[in-house]
Amino acid sequence: MSDPLAPIVVVGASAAGLSTAEGLRRGGYTGPLILVGDETHLPYDRPPLSKQLLSGVWDTGRLALRPPEALDALGLDLRLGRAAVALDTGRREVCLTDGTRIGYRHLVVATGAHARRLPGTGELSGVHTLRTIEDALALRAALRPGTRLVIVGAGFVGAEAASVARGLGCEVTMVTDAAVPLADGLGPELGTMLAEVHRENGVRIEPGVLVRDVLSDGAGRATGVRLADDRTVTADAVLVGIGARPATAWLEGSGVPLGDGVLCDATLYAGDGVWAAGDVASWAHPVTGSPTRVEHRTHASESGLAVARNILAGPGSATPFAPVPYVWSDQYDLKIQVYGSTRGADSVRIVEGSTAARKLVALYGKGGRVCGAAGVNMVRSVRGRRASVVAAEPFDRATAGSAS
Ligand SMILES: Cc1cc2nc3c(=O)[nH]c(=O)nc-3n(C[C@H](O)[C@H](O)[C@H](O)COP(=O)(O)OP(=O)(O)OC[C@H]3O[C@@H](n4cnc5c(N)ncnc54)[C@H](O)[C@@H]3O)c2cc1C
Repeated sequence: MSDPLAPIVVVGASAAGLSTAEGLRRGGYTGPLILVGDETHLPYDRPPLSKQLLSGVWDTGRLALRPPEALDALGLDLRLGRAAVALDTGRREVCLTDGTRIGYRHLVVATGAHARRLPGTGELSGVHTLRTIEDALALRAALRPGTRLVIVGAGFVGAEAASVARGLGCEVTMVTDAAVPLADGLGPELGTMLAEVHRENGVRIEPGVLVRDVLSDGAGRATGVRLADDRTVTADAVLVGIGARPATAWLEGSGVPLGDGVLCDATLYAGDGVWAAGDVASWAHPVTGSPTRVEHRTHASESGLAVARNILAGPGSATPFAPVPYVWSDQYDLKIQVYGSTRGADSVRIVEGSTAARKLVALYGKGGRVCGAAGVNMVRSVRGRRASVVAAEPFDRATAGSAS
C-alpha cells in the first residue's frame, strides 16, 4: 500500500528529472522530494556537448541547467553519484548503489538513455561515444589539427561532431549504412543537401556500408575500422554515434512494463505508482495510440512537467500527454529545426526556399495530413508552420502554391 507521507522519488537528475521536480514544487507540492542521479555533476544540459563544449567555445561551467541557488530553493533531497539498482514495486522501495532503500509514494523514472556501443570495443582506447560531460571532454582532448577521426553513424550527434571536428582541423570520415547519409529523419532531399554541405566542408562520407569491426594495434588502442566490404579506414579516434538505448536495465524483474523504454499509458503512468519522463519514457500516444519514445531536449522538460501535473491531479484526473515534438541541430552555419514527426512520412514538399539556397522549410505528410515541418536557416518561417503540424492540416492545402 502507498504511504501518503512517503516521498516522491525521481530517479535521473537531468533535464526530465529536474523539470519533474520543478513542476511538483510549482504545482504546490511541499512534501518530501528526493532526486537521485548516478552522475556526480549537478544537473546539466546535453545538447551543448556535441556543439559548444566539443568545440571549446564553452567550458563545463556553462552547462548547468540551474544555478546552485535555484536548486537549493526547490528544497530537494539531492542524492548524486548514486545509481538506482533495483525496484521493489510491491513494497514501493527503490534501492541505490550505496545500499539505501527509499520508500516512495510516487516514483518517476527519468533515467534517459545510454549511448549504444559497438560490440567488443569496451576495452579499446580511442573509441568514443558522446552522451556525458566526460565523453565530450575525452573526445575534445583527442581532436587536434590533423587527427584522423572516423564517425560511425550519421545521425544528428555524429553530424554535429563532424562539423566541430572539421572546425578543429581534423580529417573526418563518416561511415553510415544508410544509402543517403543524414536522410534518416529528414528524407532523401534534405539528407542529400546536408551530405553535400559536409562534403564541401571536407568530410569524407562512406554511405551504404556497415562497420564490421574496430581495428586495434594489439596494445589496446583503436587504429581504424574495417567496413563490411573489407575496406579499412585508418583513424586516430573513432566516434560511435549509432543512437541510444533507454536506461532501463535496473528495472528488469521489477514488474514495471518494459519495451523500448518504460511502457506507460497516455498519461505517462506505468502503474504501481511508477511514472516515466524524458528519453526513457515510451507512452501510448493519445492521437496515434502507438507506443512513442522521443529523444529531444524540449520533450524531456515537457514530459517531466506533464508527469508532475498528473501526479498532483490525483487518481482519475491525469490528462493525456500530447506534445508536438521539437528538435534542433547545429551543423556548420546551418540551423536545422524539426517540429512534429518526420519519420514514416509518405510525402515531403519544400514550401519555402530551396536546397540550393540552403534556406528552406519542408512539410512532411502522412496519409494526406501534415505530420512534420523541417526548417534550415528559416527559424521564424518554420515556427510559423507548427500550427499546420498541430492541426494535422490536409497536406495538399498546407502545401498549395509551393514551388516543388
Ligand atoms: C551529445 C548530445 C547532443 C544532443 N543535442 C540535442 C539537440 O541539439 N537538440 C535536442 O532536441 N536534443 C538533443 N539531444 C538530446 C537531449 O539531450 C536528450 O533528449 C535529453 O538529455 C533527455 O533528457 P533526460 O533527462 O530524459 O535523459 P538524460 O539527459 O539521459 O538524463 C538521464 C540521467 O539519469 C541518469 N541515470 C541513468 N540511469 C540511472 C540510474 N539507474 N540511477 C540514477 N541515475 C541514472 C543518467 O546518468 C543521466 O544523468 C542531445 C543529446 C546528446 C547526448
